[in-house]
Amino acid sequence: MTITSKILLSWYQENARILPWRISPKESILGKKPDPYKVWISEIMLQQTTVATVIPYFKSFVRKWNCIEKLSRANESEILAFWAGLGYYARARNLLKCAKVLAVQFGGKIPNNKEKLLSLPGIGEYTASAIRSIAFDEREIVIDGNVERIICRLFKIQKPIKQSKKNIRKCAFQLFPKLNCGDFAQALMDFANLVCKPKKPACMLCPISSSCQSFKFGLEKIIPTKQVI
Ligand code: SF4
Repeated sequence: MTITSKILLSWYQENARILPWRISPKESILGKKPDPYKVWISEIMLQQTTVATVIPYFKSFVRKWNCIEKLSRANESEILAFWAGLGYYARARNLLKCAKVLAVQFGGKIPNNKEKLLSLPGIGEYTASAIRSIAFDEREIVIDGNVERIICRLFKIQKPIKQSKKNIRKCAFQLFPKLNCGDFAQALMDFANLVCKPKKPACMLCPISSSCQSFKFGLEKIIPTKQVI
């Protein structure tokens, strides 16, 4: 594990956001495990929707449908009515289709196998990685737009993100630890939200500024770039 990864994990211990689908770092130390059902629902809701909007929907969703079995028996019209306000209704339709497959073919459980996850309705590469990492603590390199931004800044990647995907993945591989993968993925999400923000990164408060190449060269507000600089 790199020093930067260690620092980010310790930062997470102190600064993790409290989210209803999440096990806090303190609970995690005590051996509590995340509920894969909640992780799955949250990841689907968080596609194209902000955390703040998702929280109340998530809470009432898991109150109403508290397990895969129950969700698999819901009507599509009921789920769609619930989904009003979240938008992107294909997610809701796929969620129900997925619950039915999980109930019939997977014994009402979320599988931790990548291929099986990818075969399920509504679960693509990012969601499969996030579920494996957060719910099962498997080593996955979970990269979304926030992680791309952090990596571009840390490693001073000066080409636009679209042209740097391979390079970003290579750098992410160095950064992601082999252990504590779920906590690390969530640490990056929180760090992106609270410190390495899109427009105004809080570099003066940043615990990893000494290893940030963009900060070193005063490029943190320019990177990620839209054009090569
Ligand atoms: Fe992000 Fe600034 Fe920290 Fe670099 S120093 S990782 S740009 S917050």
